[in-house]
Amino acid sequence: MAVLDDTQLTIAASRALLQKGELSVRELVSIFLERIKEKDQELGAYLEVFEEHLWEEAEAQDKMIREGNTIKPLWGVPIAVKDNILIAGERANAGSRMLENYTASYDATVIRKLRNAGALFLGRTNMDEFAMGSSTEHSAFKKTKNPHDITRVPGGSSGGSAVAVAAGMAMAALGSDTGGSIRQPAAFCGAVGLKPTYGAVSRSGLIAMASSLDQIGPLARSVEDAELLFSFMQGEDPKDATSRSGIIAERKDIRIGVPEEYFSWKEKGREEGLEKDVAACVRRAITLLNENGYLTKTIHLPNTEYVLPCYYVLMPAEVSANLARFDGVRYGLHERAGTLLEEYERTRERGFGREVKRRILLGSFVLSSGFYEAYYGHALKVRRAIKRDFQHAFEEVDVIISPTVPAPAFRFGEKEDPVAMYLGDIFTVPANLAGIPALSMPCGAVERDGKQLPVGVQLMAPWFGEDRLFAVGKRLEELL
Ligand code: GLN
Repeated sequence: MAVLDDTQLTIAASRALLQKGELSVRELVSIFLERIKEKDQELGAYLEVFEEHLWEEAEAQDKMIREGNTIKPLWGVPIAVKDNILIAGERANAGSRMLENYTASYDATVIRKLRNAGALFLGRTNMDEFAMGSSTEHSAFKKTKNPHDITRVPGGSSGGSAVAVAAGMAMAALGSDTGGSIRQPAAFCGAVGLKPTYGAVSRSGLIAMASSLDQIGPLARSVEDAELLFSFMQGEDPKDATSRSGIIAERKDIRIGVPEEYFSWKEKGREEGLEKDVAACVRRAITLLNENGYLTKTIHLPNTEYVLPCYYVLMPAEVSANLARFDGVRYGLHERAGTLLEEYERTRERGFGREVKRRILLGSFVLSSGFYEAYYGHALKVRRAIKRDFQHAFEEVDVIISPTVPAPAFRFGEKEDPVAMYLGDIFTVPANLAGIPALSMPCGAVERDGKQLPVGVQLMAPWFGEDRLFAVGKRLEELL
């Protein structure tokens, strides 16, 4: 087998090796399967590895290469898939007992598109139940550990996908992001993660959490790899009426906005706030960009303090509607009882975990008659105000930079109080509410208990401005 530092191996680099015949798809696949055998017992990123199919597909691709066929752009690229994205014939549990025995009957659009480009799917990764959480502790199946310190969480809800990439157990991964679930675990584990513009990637085949906020996106080892994957994933899809193709005009001299409200964030009456050394890491990235030709300036996003209250009303409302379909009749778990109502009740009691139940209750409450206007209706108006903040900001600047999360990875069990967990979403949720694209990439590390923990920097752009994120992100990677 070719000798190479496989942890540095990116999609672009492996393609060149495949093309020159210095590496075979079989060898590439075996690198990742070996790594999974070596590490995943401890880290727990995967719920299942699709070993058998992988060998067959690898053989088939190697044969085509030997026969002189042109190599498709993602041939041989082993991708890990979050457990809420459907792959025909494979299980998809969304981290929940409710769907423990569910097998997907069709491919999600992203899976079909990536498969057509030659990608291979390594396995299903662990996640918070139905994508609700920021630590993967809410998975019904197991704990996933942060590879930088196994006493700490990997973030969530796409924790398994982030660990698979960060620990070299996948070349890239798919996640979903409703309020930060791609970017936050990417930041905690030291990977690149992109939440695309709302509608840029089809949601067909994604098990829905909150449909007006959900997006599928890539986690990768480099900004270039995330860009490449996104280019194959994006585009209008007749199966998702909210999807569309879009681009915006390129800009030469990119102006970068630094939101004052984020850098001074401290939650009123609580201890949570932006941690000093995390801020310093991100400031260093801003300085580097500034010294290398980017104009940087302070901007304002005045409705930042309403971001979390708004999200934690709208999201549960949508969750309660989306999860109503899990009634024990149509999908997954089915508990027998005397009457139909008792069957519903027993199935939902046994099938859902605490966090999911909490959100269904909250959501049903904010949508109930008499409270609808006061909560849901009001939160919709706040959402528009938050979106307007971004519209105004993007009249002045082309990209907005911030920390991805106010603090590095926390310890297991440290955030038992649900509100403490929710507060960590302060910088990631705005992009979902506004529908804009946002990228998290590593920008350094901070020390906690003698361990170096990764810090993520977040770049946000106007609707369909992903290319801007890639341009600035790639430059920043070179400068760091
Ligand atoms: N942490 C956020 C939540 O718990 C975001 C989850 C997500 O993006 N799926 O809702």
